[in-house]
Amino acid sequence: MKNTRKPLLFLLIIPLIMGLESCHDLKKKADLIIYNAKIYSPDSLAKEINCIAVSSGKIIGIGTDSEIRSRYWSPENINASGACLYPGFTDAHSHFTGFALGLRYADLTQAHSFDEVLEILKGYRKTHPEGWIVGRGWDQNNWPQKVFPDNKLLNKLFPDVPIVLTRVDGHAVLASDAAIKASGITFPGKAGEAKLQNGTFTGIFLESLADKLRNTIPQPSAEELTNLLETATKLCHQAGLTSVTDAGLNKTEVLMLDSLQKVGKITLRIDAWLNPNEENFEYFMKDSAYHTPFLKLGAIKMYADGALGSRGACLLKPYLDDPQNKGILTISPDELSAVCKRAYDHGFQMVTHAIGDSAIRMVLHTYSKFLKPGDDRRWRIEHAQVVNEDDFELFAKFHIVPSIQATHATSDMDWARQRIGYERLTNAYAYNRLLKQNGWLPNGTDFPIEDISPLKTFYASVARKNAFGEPEEGFMMENALSRSDALKSITIWAAKAAFCEKERGSLEIGKAADFTILNTDIMKSTENKILMSKVLYTIVDGKTVYKAK
Ligand SMILES: [Zn+2]
Repeated sequence: MKNTRKPLLFLLIIPLIMGLESCHDLKKKADLIIYNAKIYSPDSLAKEINCIAVSSGKIIGIGTDSEIRSRYWSPENINASGACLYPGFTDAHSHFTGFALGLRYADLTQAHSFDEVLEILKGYRKTHPEGWIVGRGWDQNNWPQKVFPDNKLLNKLFPDVPIVLTRVDGHAVLASDAAIKASGITFPGKAGEAKLQNGTFTGIFLESLADKLRNTIPQPSAEELTNLLETATKLCHQAGLTSVTDAGLNKTEVLMLDSLQKVGKITLRIDAWLNPNEENFEYFMKDSAYHTPFLKLGAIKMYADGALGSRGACLLKPYLDDPQNKGILTISPDELSAVCKRAYDHGFQMVTHAIGDSAIRMVLHTYSKFLKPGDDRRWRIEHAQVVNEDDFELFAKFHIVPSIQATHATSDMDWARQRIGYERLTNAYAYNRLLKQNGWLPNGTDFPIEDISPLKTFYASVARKNAFGEPEEGFMMENALSRSDALKSITIWAAKAAFCEKERGSLEIGKAADFTILNTDIMKSTENKILMSKVLYTIVDGKTVYKAK
């Protein structure tokens, strides 16, 4: 009997001895613990939580420091030193690949006159001596003469050089004669899409003709594109973004993003929206949409009109500052219906750009022919900028999602009244009113049209001021969002708009470990501190993808 008892006693003692050496055996192992943080999640705003544990890219524990550290240990720990941790910020409407491609173009956003545009191009030519000159971001509304330029000086300064300069809204380009020749455009196209003077092109093209010119620009090599996409990823993480949208892609672009995500070169989650072409429909429009933890595919991107800045947004009544012009409807209701039918039949989302009240009305009515009561299709209207008084209720009636970009309001506010007059302006950029209709809404930037910063989006949503803090009293404050709603709009509601709210967007057990850590409590700080906040860490799938120096 003595002999058999000894090993039993020994077996009982071993774990006790090991337990004295380390309490790890009593705790579960995590891959990462972030402690001493002030944690904000849309679903837990009222709770006091400051510690979060992560394993295999997912949240496994969330609570007070003592709660979490009594249950988990981790080889990697981040002391947040009181900094604020939010669910990773999401941009619900952006053009990620376009942003990446634009990194090699001349940046015209800071030009305060057309002369300054020319100066920037001369500098660009020194560093890019060969081939095309491509630029983006000019805005005649920031110049002393607030009129479209023509291409005469471009042709004179850079004879025979193909030049394409995209306006800040992406809906207009200024092209040199050599670029027009290369594009093959020889007639004005759809009414209003080419600006003419004495029967000849001025170099300004809108909508589909602008696309045609851009499509003529030589594409970068696969290696160059990979580098650009990697740089764009880093810039997004630096700004605190963990998820973005890539609006309007073709098959090869989607496959490239997917392959770069799979080898870890793109560490952003992407909601990719397809262009409405047969190649995309054939390859991607299966009854269950392609979906990896990093890539969500399931929406068709359409355009119903242009933008207000270039007077291409389609209005019910003419522009106040251009009485002959009501803008451009870029698609007929029948054409839109045909795509809606395919999307509805395959369970795809419709995502349609509509800015003017006429375009928005057309899209609302077209969507409503397909959507049935009780449907949860989350068909979206992007921008939803100028809504007719009679049409607000249609968003609620058919559960159509208004997708907003808060910085568009503060970028347009200086000239929007001249374009559409006071009465229409009261129903424009009406974000709080749209929120009340649908109960939730996603928010984004439309980058590269606006700056990529989600903090600027948050600030413009709550303060309705531009990055210079203007106007002092805020622009049409009745349509400001509360801080809590603004946070939801760039986290959980942005995820919901892509059908990803079960996977990410808030800090809950089992959801993706995507976090943005700021040195500022944007939920409580004074307004001006929001824009000054610094991103300390961006974490995707439990891995640090950006850390402030
Ligand atoms: Zn866009």
